[in-house]
Amino acid sequence: MVLVGDDPASAVYVAKKEERAQRLGFARQSHRLPGAASTAEVLDRVDALNADDTIDGILVQLPLPPQVDAAAVLGRVRPDKDVDGFHVLNAGALAQGRPALVACTPLGVMRLLAWAGLSPAGLDAVVIGRSNIVGRPMAQLLEQAHATVTVCHSRTVGLRAHLRRAQLIVAAVGRPGAVGADDVADGAIVVDVGINRLGDGRLVGDVDFDAVAPRCRAITPVPGGVGPMTIAMLMENTTRAAELRQGRG
Ligand code: NAP
Repeated sequence: MVLVGDDPASAVYVAKKEERAQRLGFARQSHRLPGAASTAEVLDRVDALNADDTIDGILVQLPLPPQVDAAAVLGRVRPDKDVDGFHVLNAGALAQGRPALVACTPLGVMRLLAWAGLSPAGLDAVVIGRSNIVGRPMAQLLEQAHATVTVCHSRTVGLRAHLRRAQLIVAAVGRPGAVGADDVADGAIVVDVGINRLGDGRLVGDVDFDAVAPRCRAITPVPGGVGPMTIAMLMENTTRAAELRQGRG
């Protein structure tokens, strides 16, 4: 794990991942670089980890400080060690429906749906958000699972109308209350990816859980829904990367 700077939320995420890796018996290293580190310094560290044959998976915690070229760093991680699934080769493979290492959060959402016995096949699905780490791969995975997918974003006109006809909603916006009770059709499945820290310190998702839950067939809480799945899928991807590198994939 590579952590650049001292963003408090990132430190919490890295600690959770370290704790889980330790519990599972993974050998692990944490590389902490100062917040003023340059792109070249971060790339050097990634190169060293790429070359280290004892390392099967590399995770660069986002966000990186503004002076660091995040695309260059994510593009430098060896694709077969890219356990976050952010390298263009892995993202491209997913886009073509032949995934290698898939982004952990959308993968975790798919696993949750499968665990709950909720098949996306044939469903009208709306994904709010089109980021490379959540919304875009989420939409691709749902489409590959045979949902009919609409991707909404900040420039979408009539978001509410899209939401109201959706049988499956995945919210990955980063705005509390982005989905309220009036936005959701009766019997919809609602997956809340958002993580938002309120002024009073509470952690909430994008969905107004209390108002929306009574109308839903199924809904994920925040915290305790998608977040833990993201970490679980990171561990699974790391195992998969190790197996693939040993020719056992
Ligand atoms: P991001 O890069 O900021 O993307 C947010 C997306 O939401 C963008 O596509 C944006 O549209 C869209 N959006 C913003 N305001 C909107 C509005 N009013 N109506 C409709 N769409 C709107 O964020 P991200 O990295 O994808 O993360 C999204 C959320 O998920 C955040 O709360 C993040 O903390 C959380 N997250 C959770 C996990 C987890 O493990 N649970 C993992 C990763 C992220 P544009 O593209 O037009 O700007």
